[in-house]
Amino acid sequence: MKWEGRRESDNVEDRRGMGVGRVAGGGGLGLVAVALIVWALGGDPLAVLQQGLSEGGQISSGGGQITPEDEQAAKFVSVTLADTEQVWGDIFQRELGRTYTPTTLVLFKGATGSACGGASEATGPFYCPEDKKVYLDTGFFVTLSQQLGAHGDFAAAYVVAHEVGHHVQDELGILAKANAARQQASEADSNAISVRIELQADCLSGVWARQAADKLGTLEPGDIQEAVDAAARIGDDTLQRSAGRVPMPDSFTHGTSEQRQRWLATGYKAGSIRACDTFSTDNI
Ligand SMILES: [Zn+2]
Repeated sequence: MKWEGRRESDNVEDRRGMGVGRVAGGGGLGLVAVALIVWALGGDPLAVLQQGLSEGGQISSGGGQITPEDEQAAKFVSVTLADTEQVWGDIFQRELGRTYTPTTLVLFKGATGSACGGASEATGPFYCPEDKKVYLDTGFFVTLSQQLGAHGDFAAAYVVAHEVGHHVQDELGILAKANAARQQASEADSNAISVRIELQADCLSGVWARQAADKLGTLEPGDIQEAVDAAARIGDDTLQRSAGRVPMPDSFTHGTSEQRQRWLATGYKAGSIRACDTFSTDNI
């Protein structure tokens, strides 16, 4: 992705350097409650993998030092976020006739608080509908590349775009409706709804990538393949297998590798929000 020297977003809340472990908004919430909330929100799959990996002792908990890699990552995220603002602003205007209100992206290192509970390296990136913010530990990109094997800057852009996709769902009222339905549902049905939420966010990230390619001209050869490869690496079946478990479809919350790749590609091919109706399709 062409990003160096490009415009950065004004909607980044940089909490790095506030000190590791200062959890500012989680007061009173126990770890179990936090975990439940993350689960209820369809917390991102990295958390699942990291749990799996840390059981094997392969993950060290994040330090608070801001490295040059973190600085690069922060700039990259900020440029990517600016691109999502431009693209979603255009799409909302053109396809929906309304104004897009951007999300704020909280960058942190180690741990911080959100209206949805504590955020840490272990939770992975997530979107909190309560405060309408995306939470991202810049150290996550190292995890993405080194532990998940998803290489290339566009793998990282896909992750940012996926979380922004949740904000788009929130703006459209889809997220609230789907989460309300999940609360009435059995665990298996709730997971199935979560899969549709997550695959839609993948599709929306594909829509964004297509518009970034066509309108901003910022994609480079191989970028989309990097995103599709990343999607394959964070499918529930692949993550469960990597953690040494037999994949259990009832427990999937984000979709299989095949589904995640397919919906990302669907969004990319169509370049329109209309291609992303994961809720009424028979072919999820
Ligand atoms: Zn997600």
